[in-house]
Amino acid sequence: MDRIAVFPGSFDPVTKGHESVIRRSLYLFDKLIIALGENSAKSSLFTLEQRLSWLYKLFGNEKKISITQYNGLTVDFCREQGARFILRGLRTSADFEFERGIGQMNRLMEPTLDTVFLLCEPEYASLSSSIVRDILRHKGDVSMFIPEGIIIKD
Ligand code: ADP
Repeated sequence: MDRIAVFPGSFDPVTKGHESVIRRSLYLFDKLIIALGENSAKSSLFTLEQRLSWLYKLFGNEKKISITQYNGLTVDFCREQGARFILRGLRTSADFEFERGIGQMNRLMEPTLDTVFLLCEPEYASLSSSIVRDILRHKGDVSMFIPEGIIIKD
């Protein structure tokens, strides 16, 4: 049976932290579905189309990766896709506490689903899309935080 994982996120915008977790996970899974979901707690700076197009540019040629968007519960999306794993990155203990609650609730709703966590690279521990958005709002240079080949203009 194929090991299919979903990597849900807002990717608003995609960062080197996301890219690192995605590339490292390819050793674990047969297929990775990068799934752009709308996070009800966050309103996005970039359009869905723009965020998807960055993901396609970065990972469109990776055989194991597919890229899509979804609405609704992540567990329902995983069921539809036949995915047994959700991939998430961990930066801090705050990330862990937050993810633990969601991961355990997801497993109660779908007992065949496991959340797999990858620790972030130390150099990306403070990197978040929200900080990148703040820098952009103040016209700062974010190129060192964004994957090679991606150009972001606010
Ligand atoms: P969400 O709104 O679902 O949190 P994000 O796009 O902010 O969406 O994050 C998607 C995933 O990427 C989350 O698991 C998050 O912890 C992880 N992630 C974000 N930034 C980093 C980073 N710098 N290093 C490792 N993982 C990260």
